[in-house]
Amino acid sequence: MIVASPSSLYADLDIEAELDAPLATHTWYGVGGRADLLLRPRSVSALGTLARRCHRDGIPLRVLGSGANLLVDDEGVDGVVVRLDQPAFTGVDFNADGQLERMRVHGGASMERLVQECARRGLRGLEQMAGIPASLGGAVRMNAGGKFGAIGDAIDAVAVIGPDGELRVYPRAELHFGYRETNVPVGVIAWASLRVQEDDPIACRERVKEIFAYKKSTQPMSANSAGCMFRNPMMPGGARESAGKLIDLAGLKGARVGGAFVSQEHGNFLAFDSVARQPSGRTDDMRRLVELVQERVQASFGVELETEVVFWRRGGRA
Ligand SMILES: Cc1cc2nc3c(=O)[nH]c(=O)nc-3n(C[C@H](O)[C@H](O)[C@H](O)COP(=O)(O)OP(=O)(O)OC[C@H]3O[C@@H](n4cnc5c(N)ncnc54)[C@H](O)[C@@H]3O)c2cc1C
Repeated sequence: MIVASPSSLYADLDIEAELDAPLATHTWYGVGGRADLLLRPRSVSALGTLARRCHRDGIPLRVLGSGANLLVDDEGVDGVVVRLDQPAFTGVDFNADGQLERMRVHGGASMERLVQECARRGLRGLEQMAGIPASLGGAVRMNAGGKFGAIGDAIDAVAVIGPDGELRVYPRAELHFGYRETNVPVGVIAWASLRVQEDDPIACRERVKEIFAYKKSTQPMSANSAGCMFRNPMMPGGARESAGKLIDLAGLKGARVGGAFVSQEHGNFLAFDSVARQPSGRTDDMRRLVELVQERVQASFGVELETEVVFWRRGGRA
């Protein structure tokens, strides 16, 4: 949707605006087109008003976290893209509510930095997130995690700015966190309250290092990718199967379309060739590679692979 008079959405608000803003530099894939309108609110109230106006006018509002699980279409995206990189959204309040074991982490805060900082302070409970690039909001929305646990394990409450612009706090008892999914309501995750435990800083640092080393030894962390492309599918027996294993068994490791290829190291990592760390493919190459993998896995095993990576496109759902 083309916004007729974009500045009427934000001109009177404490928001930094960029029209026709490149998005590739904000994503780990490093490809894709531009956002018609990229907005960086400087306060929760400005973001609330913006959310309400977008909802009123039927304008899609998308939230960009650290871009580690996103593929932006070559044609870019319409509506509003919000980035929470202003100080009101990037901080961490340790000792929230006067409790050493509770932190309030804002939506745009870097999980990588938080994991390191917790270990340094001797706070245990977030090591499972070592090596997972994310903002707090993106991690919660995806319930990011893996073999060692997920962000949901540490969540005490989540605060969401809904389409009506109101900030609501959802306590743990109302929330569900499953395999790469959650029932956290639609809206912008403004902050979450996380529970940690005091421990020996050396032991905490060792645990983070161990988990990071495990991840590095099993996944091609340096590729131009977004981690796992597909969700592990549920099999007829009721257990999940590794999507990477099915892709491997279907003989797809190394398969490619244009500059996009299936990693030889891990079948569920779909990456781009890169020259001097710049990807040399296009989103369309990746889209066609995803379809190829889905068709071949379906033909070999009768299993439908669903993408875990979020695709943004014009006219698509926000
Ligand atoms: C090298 C590599 C390794 C990875 N390994 C793992 C892994 O082991 N486990 C795992 O689970 N994931 C992994 N991933 C994927 C990625 O790290 C996670 O999905 C992460 O949670 C994405 O967070 P983000 O901030 O980058 O979100 P983005 O990619 O920016 O966005 C993802 C989704 O979250 C939404 N979102 C972002 N911020 C907010 C917000 N504040 N409020 C509401 N919605 C929001 C976006 O709109 C989008 O729908 C990996 C990615 C890479 C590149």
